[in-house]
Amino acid sequence: MGISRVLVANRGEIALRVIKACRALGIESVLAVSEADRESLPAKMSDRVVCIGPARATESYLKVEAIIAAALGTGCDAVHPGYGFLAERPELAEACAEEKLKFIGPSAESIRQMGNKLLARGLARSYGIPLIPGSEKVSNSKEAAPVAQEVGFPLLLKAAAGGGGRGIKIVRERAELQGAFETAAAEARAAFGDETLYIERYIPNARHIEVQLLGDRFGNVIHVGERDCSLQRRHQKVIEEAPAYSISDSLREEIRSAAVIIAKNIKYENAGTVEFIVDQDSEEFHFLEMNTRIQVEHPVTEAITGTDLVKEQIRIADGQRLSLSQAEVKFSGHAIECRITAESAKDGFRPSPGRITWWHPSCGTDIRVDSHGYMGYSVPPFYDSLLAKLIVRGENRIRAVGRMQEALAGFVVSGVETTIPFLHLMVCQLDYVKGKVNTKWLEGMVASLPSLELRAN
Ligand code: ADP
Ligand code: ADP
Ligand code: MG
Repeated sequence: MGISRVLVANRGEIALRVIKACRALGIESVLAVSEADRESLPAKMSDRVVCIGPARATESYLKVEAIIAAALGTGCDAVHPGYGFLAERPELAEACAEEKLKFIGPSAESIRQMGNKLLARGLARSYGIPLIPGSEKVSNSKEAAPVAQEVGFPLLLKAAAGGGGRGIKIVRERAELQGAFETAAAEARAAFGDETLYIERYIPNARHIEVQLLGDRFGNVIHVGERDCSLQRRHQKVIEEAPAYSISDSLREEIRSAAVIIAKNIKYENAGTVEFIVDQDSEEFHFLEMNTRIQVEHPVTEAITGTDLVKEQIRIADGQRLSLSQAEVKFSGHAIECRITAESAKDGFRPSPGRITWWHPSCGTDIRVDSHGYMGYSVPPFYDSLLAKLIVRGENRIRAVGRMQEALAGFVVSGVETTIPFLHLMVCQLDYVKGKVNTKWLEGMVASLPSLELRAN
């Protein structure tokens, strides 16, 4: 291994995940923290900590220069961006290249190609991958009107630069179009600094299915199977599973090959994910987008394949070949992940920062908890409220569902409110147990929450 010291440019559970992977590979880790994260678990577990700025992410975790200075100042030879923050900013990948630091992720070019959803759609189309019917860039509501008529209502207005479930607006009828367009453009400008919008047909009865990919610099690209991430709130994943259980094996193979085709064509290096929408009415699949980073839900893939995707990312960045071939990827059992956030579900998912006074994560065979939480930890109010990821595996889906129900029931946190009671209620619903869900299902459940009994934790 040429890499000997990695700067971890993230926080929370993913920072801890990267630190552990480094340790397992015999690599030192240096954690870049904001002033609010000095006492965090990853700060205690990394070999070294450098403070890169105040709590506010725009003055710390989102500053490319601060990350590069921290890496150079501590003699690191590589940078891992985690997910979120700078992970999909080509500027960080470029700055690393200029300073001869290895960026543990794809090339700046790949990030650029796939970071803009319109560019990505164009590329996918050119490789013969089916797209969700939609438009090119629409510049104003006047231009949008005829396109909308052709695509049909309801439709989605999407920000080309969007991500994290933000920048997506549903337009139900023609009369709403002009107003929606103006708000969407303004929001996109404020959130992403780019107001480019396009239109996509809204698929009402959909599954979100995505394929985990790995590519190395020698042109090898493999898939490590797919995940079903249909359970979402505000277009953000909440519960994810692997493998996708609602599709035929032939559709599964088609989707996996489509993802591999895209990655091979763009000469993709490192870990990445191609996301698709499967229309459950027509049983057709369509390209959605590509994420050029490790994803929050990567553990479900690890659980059923025995791979370590973060170690694989580091090896790839080090210039090594993929440690396994497509034929060596074997699948066993079913895995489910629940994202536990410090939020009050019964109060509109209001964030609930504060001190954790009791912390008892679930444990047992085939249960994994990826979390930076601990007894006494103070959850800061400045960042994403993800507190823990609870991952279970079972021989089949129904066993995994049962294990998840038990694991959530046995996960006790006090001091801050968490979504554990909400998640427990969701995984006990008959529709969920039977797998009769789509991307709208969870929102529907949330809407009926006041009438549902939330078990006190
Ligand atoms: P995916 O689930 O496909 O990986 P998401 O968009 O749900 O994609 O997850 C990435 C999002 O997580 C980012 O957009 C950001 O809002 C949030 N995020 C970024 N950094 C962190 C972090 N360190 N801990 C928790 N959440 C984060
Ligand atoms: P982001 O970059 O924010 O992750 P995506 O384009 O991946 O945005 O969409 C996020 C989620 O929004 C999808 O997983 C899906 O549930 C929903 N969605 C996006 N596009 C469509 C569509 N055309 N029809 C129905 N649902 C969609
Ligand atoms: Mg997405």
